[in-house]
Amino acid sequence: MSNGVLSFCYLLSCVLFIFSIRGLASPETARRGNVLGMLGMAIAIAATLFSPAVSEYIWVIVAILIGGGIGTYFALKVKMTSLPQMIAAFNGMGGLSAVLISLAEIISGSELLIENALGLIIGAVAFSGSMIAFAKLQGLISPKAITFKGLQLINLILAVLVIAACVYFVIRSDINVFYFLAAASIVLGITIVLPIGGADMPVVISILNAYSGWAAVGIGFSLNNVLLIIVGAIVGASGAILSYIMVKAMNRSLLSVMLGGFGNEKNAAASAQGENKIAKTGDTQDAAFIMENANKVIIVPGYGMAVAQAQHILKTMGDDLHKKYGVEVMYAVHPVAGRMPGHMNVLLAEANVPYEDVFELEAINREFATADVAYVIGANDVTNPLARTDPNSPIYGMPVLDVAKAKTVFFVKRSLNSGYSGVENPLFFADNTFMLYGDAKKVTEEIVSVLEK
Ligand code: NDP
Repeated sequence: MSNGVLSFCYLLSCVLFIFSIRGLASPETARRGNVLGMLGMAIAIAATLFSPAVSEYIWVIVAILIGGGIGTYFALKVKMTSLPQMIAAFNGMGGLSAVLISLAEIISGSELLIENALGLIIGAVAFSGSMIAFAKLQGLISPKAITFKGLQLINLILAVLVIAACVYFVIRSDINVFYFLAAASIVLGITIVLPIGGADMPVVISILNAYSGWAAVGIGFSLNNVLLIIVGAIVGASGAILSYIMVKAMNRSLLSVMLGGFGNEKNAAASAQGENKIAKTGDTQDAAFIMENANKVIIVPGYGMAVAQAQHILKTMGDDLHKKYGVEVMYAVHPVAGRMPGHMNVLLAEANVPYEDVFELEAINREFATADVAYVIGANDVTNPLARTDPNSPIYGMPVLDVAKAKTVFFVKRSLNSGYSGVENPLFFADNTFMLYGDAKKVTEEIVSVLEK
């Protein structure tokens, strides 16, 4: 394939990737966005395979078979609720590729020292950080902040060491320093993500995603591959924008996330709010009766709805209330509800909940005061008022849904256990709250069976 044709194919792929990202911006066009992205990637891979840069096919085919096989296996096998950790793991693999490519380039005598060093550092941090995020999301290690006194100082020293080693390597081109750089960056990725508490994981995931994009840019420069540079920049920039959105949604500072942790030593102080208090238990008959007689019901989905796969029966409940009983039904989506950005939007879209019935935090918070019922299904942290009132809480500062302002609040969950952040929710013990204990799907099915009698 001539260089002209190769450049044209790369340009076409880039255009398709840009339209793909644009499509992914809304649930209505997300499917088309995915198809365009896949097409762009297929063209990119095919063009690279036939480019003059590839002279031997055997290793390429072996790598495609292994990587493609593992990817296909997990894509088919993984449960919807495990998607966040799969994304974290795949993100880490992107970082690891950058590390391995820059090592291979330097060992084989590349003179592009800055490009390789940057690809190595960012890739290594993205790799090890994503592995810790994976372990936290998978429950292999505690999702709470794992920290000790002096950790932030260690992070600072490590960061300075990495910068110094990078400068030294670029000046002296000493391969041993390059190995040291790889090791120090991997440790830095671990120590940055370990102290970040559960509730702040969304920010971390999107930052690591941006890192892997920027690592690809570094590698693109060292391999002199324009497509990698452009696609890496698209991933890096869109990851950075997503991080900004997340940081704003969580009311955090980007710098404090990137430096590792929010001083989550506060965790211990944030528990035991509900001791000696009694949470009232409701039953599905009464819940159905109250909702069918309501004027306005706001449904608040959270991670538990995803676990129970209750979105379809929830849509049926909303339809019954609206069509049979004339109730106004709204869906409230918090930006970090679930375990990945847009998690609830995807599930509600899958159940064909109309987009115009789904409201974001700021818009819906005005509505709770006039709602008769807030039906909180598998959500917890995103409603926790301690985020407003307790400066010692690790979730302090995060905007939350004002469900308590509704006349009656139903919490559908299996127990009084806390959510991902590990902080107990005092709303369970509020006067207007009734707990509907059980699996989200089962409880909602019972309510629907009463509504449809
Ligand atoms: P939470 O994790 O706060 O709470 C979910 C609740 O669902 C739990 O308290 C659990 O209670 C309940 N639950 C679990 N399984 C079921 C089931 N089968 N049926 C009924 N209930 C169930 O979820 P939220 O969505 O409110 O908040 C998301 C949290 O995750 C935030 O802290 C956020 O920062 C964090 N996070 C978000 C990410 C994102 O990108 N969106 C990524 C990583 C973390 P019980 O055990 O009693 O049933």
